[in-house]
Amino acid sequence: MCGIVGFTGTQQAASLLLEGLKKLEYRGYDSAGIAVLGDGGIRVEKISGKVEKLCEKTMDGAAVPGSTGIGHTRWATHGAPTDLNAHPHLSNDGRWAVVHNGIIENYASLREELTARGCAFHSETDTEVIVHLLEYYDAGDVKTTVMKTVARLEGSYALGVLCADKPGTLFAVRESSPLILGVGVGENYFASDVTALVSYTKNAIYLDDGEFAELTPEGITVYDCSGKQIEKPISRITWDVEAAEKGGYAHFMLKEIMEQPAAVRAAIAPRLRDGEVVLEEFDLTPEELREFNKIVITACGSAYYAGCAARYALESLTRIPVEAVLASELRYADPIIDEHTLLIVISQSGETADTIAAMKECRSRGARALAIVNVVGSTIAKTADWTLYTWAGPEIAVATTKGYTTQLAVLFLLAMSMGRKLGRLDDDRYALLLYDLLRLPKLIQNAIDLNHAVPALAKKYHDSPSLFFIGRNTDWAVALEGALKMKEISYIHAESYAAGELKHGTIALIEEGTPVVAVCCNEALEDKTISNIVEVKARGARVLAVAFRGDRKIVSQANDVIFIPKINTLFSPILAVIPMQLLAYYVAKENGCDIDKPKNLAKSVTVE
Ligand code: GLU
Repeated sequence: MCGIVGFTGTQQAASLLLEGLKKLEYRGYDSAGIAVLGDGGIRVEKISGKVEKLCEKTMDGAAVPGSTGIGHTRWATHGAPTDLNAHPHLSNDGRWAVVHNGIIENYASLREELTARGCAFHSETDTEVIVHLLEYYDAGDVKTTVMKTVARLEGSYALGVLCADKPGTLFAVRESSPLILGVGVGENYFASDVTALVSYTKNAIYLDDGEFAELTPEGITVYDCSGKQIEKPISRITWDVEAAEKGGYAHFMLKEIMEQPAAVRAAIAPRLRDGEVVLEEFDLTPEELREFNKIVITACGSAYYAGCAARYALESLTRIPVEAVLASELRYADPIIDEHTLLIVISQSGETADTIAAMKECRSRGARALAIVNVVGSTIAKTADWTLYTWAGPEIAVATTKGYTTQLAVLFLLAMSMGRKLGRLDDDRYALLLYDLLRLPKLIQNAIDLNHAVPALAKKYHDSPSLFFIGRNTDWAVALEGALKMKEISYIHAESYAAGELKHGTIALIEEGTPVVAVCCNEALEDKTISNIVEVKARGARVLAVAFRGDRKIVSQANDVIFIPKINTLFSPILAVIPMQLLAYYVAKENGCDIDKPKNLAKSVTVE
């Protein structure tokens, strides 16, 4: 949520900050702002709306001279997305400017305290307390002032701090919100994620919670929470500039849908050696694996649905009971979890606040955590016991596509590896599954190619007030993700239901013409789902089915059919989700929605 950037060097800061903000805009786009330190002190320009508007207002930064600055693109938590609530916030004496990602949980009491001391507030944000604390604690030494201020804050924050008395210097502070330092030559940067840095440098320092840094054009000094200087390694950023750009596609989402064959190949290929699945990052012995008597998958949003879809493969191949639990629920559920629980934590960004909290809760009860994460060096990746990266490359569109399918690919690899080591997966079944796994990139490409009719179908379905998604077992998991995709980017009410549950209530909502998307890729259950299709059709529904190529039965039952290539049922969600993604995309396009930046949402949900 929210993107922050900082620059210090000899070039003009504003245009670089705006470029960085454009790259980070997927993290939040309620409002945008920059603060630049020039000859006349700190100048702040901020507005509600997108970064583009700020570019116009500032003549692409030319109107805000100075070579040190900070920037912010907001996903509002406290206070509406107005000009006044936009960041950066400025202290009353005009000497301090702050950008903040996160939530200051004790802001109300701090605000009361500062107001009682006569301090005037100008916004409704939790963030504003920080600049007034900086002014209050100003001890002449910026480092000390920042430390005193931070000591008063509770909650999550990545902060960028600019002080008018220290030209060329920036402070960056991290506590439970992502922050990365970019190491340049004669200039240095900070940003919420590497996409804003890759155009300028490939060298990064990942700050840990409680650490803060002083950046000048000449160098970066990192301190721990006690103010002691510490040495941090410099990591190489592996993502390239092109990966974070649209490359000719109308939207990042479409680009990322099309990248799925390559992304899934990148997730699988390094983990297959001589016909065996090899997970070096999770290299437990059979005896160690036998210690686990339960697997709990936890995540939020689509990552949770990836867990729901893969739990069938995990359970079937390992014969260990598997539950998928929403992280926001698990963290407060007083869960029955101990050292015999394998916790699988899934998050594209690796910064999802609820997922981090659920992981902490379960680890405190003895569980060991295996993370499945895309962003290298993210909080979840660093704090889990083991991490399997999904290697999807940067995912910019807020609605995940390749993030989800690469999570599935890794979960399938995990299920096979564990099943094999536990001796619960015989050679024949293993060979069949391996054959499908090897073909996955190609099959995903086929699934994309087979979906050329989706734009036409979207024209048929786009003006429905409500859509239903049904399926059983693995198909139900796909229905869950399909409905979420539709809601996220097209704003059409979409409800997913286990097909067998319809008659227990939801069928009352089916009327003449109601579209029902029926996922029928689980052959063993297809007849059952077809019965449900017949039931909704009898009540007037228009049915769009998703089925394996060559399935004749479905053609006579559904009004429209989208085919995907045939694959082992356990792996079918990774193909069946492709038409769901494309349908949501084209329906949203038909309805003129802002596909990459849907309203009210943001990627990387770093607040509870
Ligand atoms: N809590 C702050 C606000 O509402 C920061 C939100 C963000 O991370 O964008 O302004």
